[in-house]
Amino acid sequence: MVKRDIHTLVFLYSGHHGKTGFQVGINEYVSIQLINDMIQKCTNIKRVIGFMDCCQPEEIKVNAEQKLIQFNATSSADEVIWKKGKQSYFTKVLVQAFTMKASGGKCKFSGCECCIDGDFITIDKLKNYIEIHRQNGLLPHDPQWFVSKIDWVNEYLAYNYTYKVAFRFEIVLPNPFTTKQAHEVLATTVVDYQGLIQKILFPKFASRYCVCLDFF
Ligand SMILES: [Zn+2]
Repeated sequence: MVKRDIHTLVFLYSGHHGKTGFQVGINEYVSIQLINDMIQKCTNIKRVIGFMDCCQPEEIKVNAEQKLIQFNATSSADEVIWKKGKQSYFTKVLVQAFTMKASGGKCKFSGCECCIDGDFITIDKLKNYIEIHRQNGLLPHDPQWFVSKIDWVNEYLAYNYTYKVAFRFEIVLPNPFTTKQAHEVLATTVVDYQGLIQKILFPKFASRYCVCLDFF
């Protein structure tokens, strides 16, 4: 990060956090002190945007020149509530805040009429968006936020984009088939690489291949 010309660092952690830090392997942990030290040494980084979706999340400590915007799922004294095998509540709300307008504008929580208007997502708008979901009971813990050297209301976090974001794949069948088939995958449907291959692209490939066999 030091060598690259990066001025804004986005730090997102969603997972287990215990007394020894963030769990990054079966018995591997990274402490917040180590993260803080690394960030403070990166003098090219001027702005840090942190999202911590874990139990007892702590505040990131930046150096005197760096700005900080941080949203935590809960307080540093509390634990998050989660269901095994399900996406966590806080990450779900965050992902939706940044992608909902582009993916149809409907909240995934039934009965919720939330939205973020305008061309940009500001800290204030994201704070209010999270708060709406806390108040209507869809977020079962109390999120916290920290800012340092920031204009609270007007600081932009992201474009509130409305255009479709999709990847286009061309599926090429083996000989003797010569037909190529293009398939478009919405970015919001891609959760992980294995899922993209096994659950989205392979079924398309298999259905096409079966159609061709039937035809011959
Ligand atoms: Zn909602």
